[in-house]
Amino acid sequence: MTAAIAKIIWLGFGIAWAVLRQRPGKRSRKTPVRYSARGAREFILLGASLTGLGIVPFVYVAAHFPKFADYPFMPVLSYLGIAVDVICLWMFHRTHRDLGENWSVSLDLRERHTLVTTGIYGLVRHPMYSGFWLMALAQVLLLPNWIAGPAGLVGFGILFFGRVRREEEMMITAFGDEYRAYMARTARVVPWIY
Ligand code: SAH
Repeated sequence: MTAAIAKIIWLGFGIAWAVLRQRPGKRSRKTPVRYSARGAREFILLGASLTGLGIVPFVYVAAHFPKFADYPFMPVLSYLGIAVDVICLWMFHRTHRDLGENWSVSLDLRERHTLVTTGIYGLVRHPMYSGFWLMALAQVLLLPNWIAGPAGLVGFGILFFGRVRREEEMMITAFGDEYRAYMARTARVVPWIY
């Protein structure tokens, strides 16, 4: 294992993730929306996440910038990164399967939105966000650079903390006590902990 191979692996997982999102993306564009909380705020939050998880590490992998922030490569970290990325891809597969037509990249309620509380949604309320945290962690483990590595944690952190409360408020408005009861029995992203 070398730093160059770890970079290619990071890219490979990114491509696999994009392929996995293809079909849900197409389906989502076809499913009518009844209410949307999209707007400037969501645009900025999504931009922060895309920058940290996508643009910054991609520039590092493609152009080795910013080189000055490199630190010595440790193979053991990259093996851990691969393991975390495998779990992450599996989580995305599960969340898309369980959420089905209710999925959206932003905060939308569909015409026939149903509240999903089973499958992986029985374990935590935001398993897709758990998947994104794992993706950000894998980025730290695979890219030996003080800027490109943690950029995903910062970028996705901005999206997560800027959105999760609003998302839960939206779900309470739509599903009332059913969502409150669901909140009472589940954690947000880490089972039993947070
Ligand atoms: N926060 C969830 C879903 C992310 S996708 C997760 O991390 O797994 C965002 C969309 O999912 C929002 O537009 C919201 O309407 C929808 N959503 C969130 N939780 C849901 C649930 N339990 N059941 C159905 N739809 C949900």
